[in-house]
Amino acid sequence: MNQDPERPQRIVRCRWMPKRYCLNFFGIVLTRDTGWINSGVVNHERIHTAQQRELLWIPFYILYIMEWIVRLIQFRNHDRAYRNISFEREAYTHGGDFGYLRRRKRHSWLRHLFYTKQQLEHYEQRFR
Ligand SMILES: [Zn+2]
Repeated sequence: MNQDPERPQRIVRCRWMPKRYCLNFFGIVLTRDTGWINSGVVNHERIHTAQQRELLWIPFYILYIMEWIVRLIQFRNHDRAYRNISFEREAYTHGGDFGYLRRRKRHSWLRHLFYTKQQLEHYEQRFR
């Protein structure tokens, strides 16, 4: 287990953040206002914290930005590029599953790196 799922997620208000956006900064979630943060968002951010921990923090951000650039070239769309970063795919796929972090194997984000056209179609349906 790489993160205690019972540990409270630290959420810090930051007025420079765009509305309804979160930034997980070394395990601390920055957001403009906390009103929209529900348990699913918290679980999503916990998954990112687990990813960051197992990659020893800095490499997570480097890989995240590198994959984002690749996805931008692939999709030519900011929203789709962001949602298809493997770290986001894992967090969006399992954000509603509150037992996920307890069962999660290390580096599970790697399973979201490659996918078939059908898997992509299925995954993207949730954002329509
Ligand atoms: Zn995310």
